[in-house]
Amino acid sequence: MLNVVIFGPPGSGKGTQSENIIEKYNLAHISTGDLLRAEISGHTQLGTIAKSYIDKGDLVPDEIIIGMIDNKIESLAHTNGVIFDGFPRTEAQATALDELLHEHKAKVSVMVNLEVPKDELVERLLKRGEISGRSDDNLETIQKRISVYETQTKPVIDFYKKNGVYKPIKGVGSVQNIFVAISEAIDSVK
Ligand code: ADP
Repeated sequence: MLNVVIFGPPGSGKGTQSENIIEKYNLAHISTGDLLRAEISGHTQLGTIAKSYIDKGDLVPDEIIIGMIDNKIESLAHTNGVIFDGFPRTEAQATALDELLHEHKAKVSVMVNLEVPKDELVERLLKRGEISGRSDDNLETIQKRISVYETQTKPVIDFYKKNGVYKPIKGVGSVQNIFVAISEAIDSVK
């Protein structure tokens, strides 16, 4: 399996680049943000809990996220590979992902980190908010999400550096040029 983690702060382009990667490498897609938003629009109990965290810009608790991923990986174990988008977001999630993949004799092949300066992130997310209607794309929540990224999510970089699968990519420029750089990183581990 080719398992790709696409990583970076909110607004770094993970979702956009995931679509390109899926098409080129024929991977299944797991976006925890999309899964959570589906729970919210389905008015499930999990959705109600998740919404209370998402609207504040906080992370949804690890147990909830890891349970969701566990269910998904089960059904994807026999595919070409998976792109993990917006997950793992904490060291506990990264450890859990390794364990879950290990149960299927698989591992993370590459972790692509999209590097984008903070000012650019805020600008992109405010612009997205005008069309997305996402309740968390407003200035106050955006700033909170970026600070949560800095404190809780950034340490995940060291986890993958230690594993030797870490690939930093400059996430500024045209979508196409960034995708070329991502493709080179993926091809180097295939
Ligand atoms: P973005 O990367 O732009 O913040 P996402 O759709 O990935 O957008 O995530 C939106 C929100 O969903 C996050 O701010 C967080 O509250 C929640 N979320 C998504 N993925 C996770 C995760 N792996 N762990 C905890 N919370 C998550």
